[in-house]
Amino acid sequence: MVTDDLVLVDQHCHGVVAGDLDRGQFAGLLTESSSFHNSFESMLGLAVRRWCAPRLELPAHCSIDEYLDRRAQLGWREVSAKLLGSVGVGSWLLDTGLSPADTPLTKPEEFAHLAGGDTFEVLRLEAVAEQVAAKEVEVANFLEFVEAEVRAGVQAGAVGLKSVVAYRTGLELPAEPPTDVEVAAAASAWLRWGGRRLDDPILLAWLVHLGVRISAELKIPLQLHTGFGDDDVRLHRADPALLGDFLNATKSTGATVALLHTWPFHRNAGYLAHVFPHVLVDVGLAVPYVGDRAGAVLAELLELAPFRSVCFSSDGYGLPELHHLGASLWRRALGRLIDDWLADDVLTVADADAFAGNFAAGNCCRAYGLTPPA
Ligand SMILES: [Zn+2]
Repeated sequence: MVTDDLVLVDQHCHGVVAGDLDRGQFAGLLTESSSFHNSFESMLGLAVRRWCAPRLELPAHCSIDEYLDRRAQLGWREVSAKLLGSVGVGSWLLDTGLSPADTPLTKPEEFAHLAGGDTFEVLRLEAVAEQVAAKEVEVANFLEFVEAEVRAGVQAGAVGLKSVVAYRTGLELPAEPPTDVEVAAAASAWLRWGGRRLDDPILLAWLVHLGVRISAELKIPLQLHTGFGDDDVRLHRADPALLGDFLNATKSTGATVALLHTWPFHRNAGYLAHVFPHVLVDVGLAVPYVGDRAGAVLAELLELAPFRSVCFSSDGYGLPELHHLGASLWRRALGRLIDDWLADDVLTVADADAFAGNFAAGNCCRAYGLTPPA
């Protein structure tokens, strides 16, 4: 297949849990739900048994018990190295803004060591603002300090910014940033209440517009979580179609906005990438979760999304199985889709090679200023 030998760049993922997991912890990381579910009996569970088991020298479709026994026998480092190192990803862009205290994730250096590739950091804007607030800064300095911290993060090597505003107040962002007076009042009220989780709509709008300004100036993309995610998200507020006014207002600023995940709104996201040239789109997270249906999701995304606007990502989090499946299922599904197109004379082999190479790495490398991995 055209995709067989491509070296991928993962636009968005997280570290893996730096420690061994029991059955319950593994099951909990194999679902976006925080409640107990039998996550093994799902498309994702099937994909783990089918595609990850052979990477751990087990027969395909082995039982979950056999799989977990083998995992325990190998230990988390070896499991991670086998799954991350065997899937043809050369570079990983890691969102470092989320690392729970009870199951801390690997830092970028350790992840790079396990995966055998390069890692780059993406800075989560809300986490920066919350860290600045935790230092008990004066209200008068807060906004300035947040901007300075974001710039310092980029200076230190971050290649992108990310906002999880979809989880907080939703994606119906104002076209224009709030006024200085509004932002100062909002900052004062939020800090007075202890400045914990940032969920003030005015401060969030200010932060996203700050992201736009820095994206335009420093030529680094601003990633927005859209679509499904863990059960903290209210799905109707995470539809990227809500971004219409915001994207229309920012299209000529020089900023790049990357819409992550997007499922089940990937067709809406494809449309936004179609009409707004500064929009990138991916179906990370969806690809591992939908398992054998990955080809259908990719085909729907590509109905309207321009081929230069699509990026690969896994959104692997916690379990290296998710990073592995994000890449291996993407490779298989896109390869099969392109094979069908070639058989139907939809495109030439040269078209297919260019398209697949851009989707795998080229589009991402151009947007983030990265050297394509060899
Ligand atoms: Zn993520």
